Amino acid sequence: MTMARSNSGSGAGPALILLAMLPAGCGDGAAPVPLLEGVADVATHADGRRPIGELYADYLGLLEQGWALDVIVESRPAGTEVALPIVALRSPQAGQAVWLLSGIHGEETAGPNAIAAAMADIAELGARHPVVLMPLLNPQGYARNWRYLNVPVYSETVDGQSVGDSSHLLPVEPGSTESRAPRASSPEAAAITAYVLRMAASYPPRYSIDLHEDDLIDEGYVYSQGIEGPADPLALLAVDILKSNGIPLKLDGQTRFGEPIEGGIIGPVTDSSIDELMSAGTVLVGGRSMPGPAAGTVLVFETPAAAIAFEQRVAAHLALIRRLAGSMATGP
Ligand SMILES: [Zn+2]
Repeated sequence: MTMARSNSGSGAGPALILLAMLPAGCGDGAAPVPLLEGVADVATHADGRRPIGELYADYLGLLEQGWALDVIVESRPAGTEVALPIVALRSPQAGQAVWLLSGIHGEETAGPNAIAAAMADIAELGARHPVVLMPLLNPQGYARNWRYLNVPVYSETVDGQSVGDSSHLLPVEPGSTESRAPRASSPEAAAITAYVLRMAASYPPRYSIDLHEDDLIDEGYVYSQGIEGPADPLALLAVDILKSNGIPLKLDGQTRFGEPIEGGIIGPVTDSSIDELMSAGTVLVGGRSMPGPAAGTVLVFETPAAAIAFEQRVAAHLALIRRLAGSMATGP
């Protein structure tokens, strides 16, 4: 499933050469391949977020711990000049897994940066528990500060293409064999969702953690979309972690989308996101019903971004990763 490119790199800078020497995840692993050619030199929106080449170099440090690298797809939406790989990293041990997702919305930078800061913790978790890490799912959006593939920001008139859009795999209503969309909204969404379904066979998601932020809220909240719903102990733990890291939370009332909040937590919602896909008991592939990933715990964090310094936002997400990793390492 790894779509490594052929070995054609030349004239690369030092960082690129370093990346090029890393082994491919699938295949015979014999020849060094310029897997991430070009990433090291990509200009990244300069607002304090780390350059994208540095993040990838940190993520790929897991290869030294025996992890496997999958290049899910090369992302090159309209208006971009260099294709950027969307990658996943898998722990050496397969089985009931922790899935950690981040960077679906390109302007939400705390998650991808916090993951880079948590590599030692993630490596340790992977030594004790199967893990699939998808650290930066919209690299083009991160590099150019675009939320979606096709438009920079949310709009009521233009449908923003999210890399996590799963509408083509989810039924219009429970039990229906009609999906919400006839096809994936982008090559990226097609590849990412197909990867989730394919890899769920060997790394079935027991836990799915998706790091988001929101510029338009002053108080954050936690979606708990898994089978355990709003009573999931890890959702309660996450609320405590965010509180103790100085993140204001909206403990009751409604989200900005009108969903009810209780104790800072929202139960399962229908939003065609990759998180809904992770929690789905049934999915539709080519019009046929199939068992879905059915993750027990599916948490999505929405932390306020506008009024909080980047460093504090990253620190809060780092605390979430560390504390939840410690809890999940000893869980089922
Ligand atoms: Zn988001």
